[in-house]
Order: sequence, then structure tokens, then C-alpha cells
Amino acid sequence: MTEVLDRFIRYVKINTASKEDVEEIPSTKRQFDLANILVEELKQLGLKDANVDEHCIVTATLPSNLPPNVKTPVLVFNAHLDTSPEEPGENVKPNVVRNYRGGEIRLPGDANTIISPEDRPILKEYVGHDIVTSDGTTLLGADDKAGIAIIMTAVSALSRDPSRKHGIIKIVITPDEEVGKGTEALNIAALKSDYGFTVDNDELYLGVETFNAAGGTITIRGFNIHPGEAYGKMVNSIRVLPDAINLFPQTISPETTKEHQGYYHPLHIEASVNEARLVFILRDFDYGELKKKMATIQEGVKRIQQKHPKAQVTLKLEEGYRNMKEVLDRVPEVVKTAEEAIRRVGLKVRIKPIRGGTDGATMSFKGLPTPNLFCGYVNEHSKKEFVSVQAMEKATETVLNIVDIFAEKKQKR
Ligand SMILES: [Zn+2]
Repeated sequence: MTEVLDRFIRYVKINTASKEDVEEIPSTKRQFDLANILVEELKQLGLKDANVDEHCIVTATLPSNLPPNVKTPVLVFNAHLDTSPEEPGENVKPNVVRNYRGGEIRLPGDANTIISPEDRPILKEYVGHDIVTSDGTTLLGADDKAGIAIIMTAVSALSRDPSRKHGIIKIVITPDEEVGKGTEALNIAALKSDYGFTVDNDELYLGVETFNAAGGTITIRGFNIHPGEAYGKMVNSIRVLPDAINLFPQTISPETTKEHQGYYHPLHIEASVNEARLVFILRDFDYGELKKKMATIQEGVKRIQQKHPKAQVTLKLEEGYRNMKEVLDRVPEVVKTAEEAIRRVGLKVRIKPIRGGTDGATMSFKGLPTPNLFCGYVNEHSKKEFVSVQAMEKATETVLNIVDIFAEKKQKR
């Protein structure tokens, strides 16, 4: 078995599902089960400062083996410990399909769960590879244990071979990414690093671009009274609510947009006569366009208030994560190096805008420019999740190439 596969199989068998709506970080104690193992393994690889803190963040440093006068950028490699709470993460039974011949893959634990190249064309490129799936009754957890296995295998290669020259490399494995808190407890400044790489992108994509996000709530307050006494007095929030819903154009929604298009997305309503609430999100790759979308909602809410003066219509609207491209464009060296590293493993550079956020986006805006490297996994957050072992091997080589390229440049800081 190859090292990356061996590590991957060991890691996915440990249940690390995170949990929504928990104040504490980590959201589930079981994430420590894997964190503690990683600390032990990192120590065995010679990273003496390997540690897990009270928030389940694993950190370790591989010191530079370059001459003391040669300074290269300090690099962070990051992956996340937790798996999505959307599907079961307990009792994962990894199933290895050796030398995949093409066509459908039927999962051993559930005959109805089929992975097919029609659904996932990348499978055609994975012919001849070894494919790992779950048995069909659980998640696999390749998102993001593939990333952890890749980083650990790369560190292992570096520590075994002192002739490979490298600068200071920091390993940062974080909890709770799937519940949106991956970097909340992480002190980026304390890492004293120059560039980061998350290893958490699907298929063979390099991620350099995410949405800009905003979200909020429109609240409509009415006045309830017995319907028999209601004439001229009742103010029914439910009657006002359609005007609020109509602020969100149906043709600019997640289900009608793709690639670089942004959207308006009403995602939850609750309503009674007294009060109606509409929760929504706005997304756009272009920050200016996101601002316009926000202004459209703000003006719309004002108009609704004017039209229904007896109701009280209020808006809470906040910005969320930002498109990391804005930060990465200022330091072109990072993405250029990632692209060169991918070309050196014999792959084409494929860039797909990430229609969501990543921890790398947050890290980028906190001062650590961090693109997202591929892991080879597909169908994340689903029982049909799978990963190619050869893609994980290419990803491991990509990480090593990034380290090499920065050492080759021997930059003075
Ligand atoms: Zn992930």
C-alpha cells in the first residue's frame, strides 16, 4: 500500500463529524481523537513542537534545513479534521476499487448507491487509478482527510530525506471547518508565516477565487387582534411578506446561475400575523456587485415600509467572507508557484471559481494569502464521496514541489 493511502484509510476510520450550532470550538470532542494521533505522528516524524491546543487546533513546525543566511517564505499547509455532519460519519468502512476499469461503481453496503461517470465525468480521467469509496452507508470523509493524508505524507517525505532542501514549514490542522468555524480560534498573526495553502479542493482544481458573501434578515412587525375586532386595526405581516420575497429575483438564484454569476437567495421564512421574518444570503465574485445587491435589498426594504406604513419593516444586513482573489492578486508569487508545482507533476492547471467560501479565504483576509490545492476527492458531503489514490499522490508531489520551488528561489526576506 502507498503511504498516502495507508494514512488515509487510518484517518477516515476515526469519526470526526462536527456539529452545527455549538458555541464551543471544537463543536465535538471526538475531533480530538484524530488530533491526538496526528500530534503523535508528527512527533515521530521529528516535528518536536507538535501540539494540539484546547480548541483542537494541531500545529507543528518543520525547521528549515537551508543554510542560516538563506531565507525563504515561511509556508503553512492546512487541512481540516472534521467531516460534514450532513451524513453519518461513524463506522466508515473504506472500500478500495483497485485499477478502476471505467463504468459504474456499486457500493458494497447499499446496492442502490451507484457512482457513475455520467454524474461525475472526472471518473473517466481516473480510469486505471485506485478509487476509495465508503460502503455507501456513510460519508467517506475524504473531505478533508485526503488533505490531512497528503500533508502528512509530504512531511514524512521531507523528514526522511535530509537532502531535500526546504525553508520553515508549518502544519496547521483545524477543527470545525464544515460548520463555518475553521479559523475562528486560529491566531493567524502568531503563526508568523508568509503564505498558506489549504489542501481541501475537489477533483484536480486549484482554488484561487471564492464568492464575496453577505446575509441578513428582513423582519416585518404587524399587529394581531381577534379577527372579529380586526376592522381597521389588524396589521397582518403575512400580507406584507410577498413584497419582501419579491425583492429576490428568481432569475438570479443559486438554481439559475453558475460559474462567475452571483445570486440572491431567500433561504428561510417564518410568519404569523404579528411577525414575519425572511432570512437570506447574497453572493457575488465581484465585491462591487455584491455591494449593489446589498443596496438593492436596502432600497427595497425602504419601499416596502413606505407601501405598508402601519407595519414595521426592518433589515439586518451583514457582510461575511470575501473573495480571496483580491488578496492573492497582490502577491502573484503564491498562485504562480502553485501553478508551477501542478505543472511539474504533469497535470494541467485547472481553476474553477469556488461557489462558496473556504478557510483559505478567511486566512487570506487575516493576512496569510492562502489558495486551495486539489485533493482528488469528488461528491463531498455525500455517501457517494470518493477519492483517487493516484490523485492524492499527485497532490502530495504538488505540496513537495511548492516547498522545492520556494527553496530554489532562495529569496531574501
Ligand atoms: Zn473541506
